[in-house]
Amino acid sequence: MFNYYFDPTMVLVIIGMALAAFASFGVQMTFNKYKDVRNMRGLTAAQAARQILDANGLQNIRIEHVAGNLTDHYSPNEAVIRLSDSTYNSDSVAAIGVAAHECGHAVQHKVGYVPIKIRNSIIPAVNLGNTLSMPLFLIGLILGIGPLAMAGALLFGFVLLFQVVTLPTEINASRRALKTLDERQMLMGDELAGAKKVLTAAAMTYVAAVISTALQFLRLLLLANRRNNR
Ligand SMILES: [Zn+2]
Repeated sequence: MFNYYFDPTMVLVIIGMALAAFASFGVQMTFNKYKDVRNMRGLTAAQAARQILDANGLQNIRIEHVAGNLTDHYSPNEAVIRLSDSTYNSDSVAAIGVAAHECGHAVQHKVGYVPIKIRNSIIPAVNLGNTLSMPLFLIGLILGIGPLAMAGALLFGFVLLFQVVTLPTEINASRRALKTLDERQMLMGDELAGAKKVLTAAAMTYVAAVISTALQFLRLLLLANRRNNR
């Protein structure tokens, strides 16, 4: 038990953390690159979002300003899209891309996009897994009760499942965003290519999150299994 934190399997966690940090750095770099490229039509991200929502019959969804850097999100329960300091008033192709992505989530909810339904349906299990997995796992290891440690490890699987289901949701929101920006000619040519790079970099953070969580899951399984075989 005492060498739990210095276990060789810790390498898996470190690889995951490095991937996540790398992806996060990538999105910040890409956003910085395109945050100064203004769109020809002079739309702000908030204006672009309003147009996209209205075009999809989502007049009921409000657009608000939220503090922070890239804290943009869509809140389905409140029917509000919040755009951050770095996007709300910006007319950069990066900001328009991010705003259109959030609109993509709103449209997903409206059309009943299946991965979102799956994600919502597993949330209670995910919360249970999140709350119980580590305590059960650690108690199992400390007291030497193999099956308990394994149960804790397996419960962490729900956290991984959540990340896996989140991935298509995020990629689809970006796809919808780029399609709309193109079709409505809100961004053109290089502008669209810039927005695509920003959204692709953002998608990589979700890919990194899945890999990182999968590596953590693997680590817990390995440790619990070793305990079982002792
Ligand atoms: Zn998203």
